[in-house]
Amino acid sequence: MFKICKTFRFEAAHHLPITNGKCKNVHGHNYKVKVYIEAETPHQYGPDTGMIFDFHVLDKIAKNAFLKIYDHKNLNEIQVFRDSVPLVELTEQDKLLYPTAELIAADIFLRMKHELSKLNELCCSIFYNLDAIRVYENDDCWAEYSE
Ligand SMILES: [Zn+2]
Repeated sequence: MFKICKTFRFEAAHHLPITNGKCKNVHGHNYKVKVYIEAETPHQYGPDTGMIFDFHVLDKIAKNAFLKIYDHKNLNEIQVFRDSVPLVELTEQDKLLYPTAELIAADIFLRMKHELSKLNELCCSIFYNLDAIRVYENDDCWAEYSE
């Protein structure tokens, strides 16, 4: 199995109303997102020979899938968090979703998985699997989502 990873960055505000502590207040992060994609073998022919994914193509996909939605936004106002649409299985008391690093990772995972599934339908030579999405709020703290 081969795996690639590319790091993306966005800046955004959020607040976590139900937590104890200073994260209740609106504040910002310079978020970092690592996208991990794997495939059994690299491309055997064509312009991507020897690679599983062209990093420049990944830039375009990430921009459409989540960067344009997340960058320079108040994350609490993004629809998935504003409307409390459940993305992952949550217990009853967790029905209200706030833009924690964990749930941002889950949301980005679903958005990227959707884009990769479209590519998999177009390209039959290799199969791209989204391995994980890791979201950093800062250098020391990250959360990851995978299936
Ligand atoms: Zn925060």
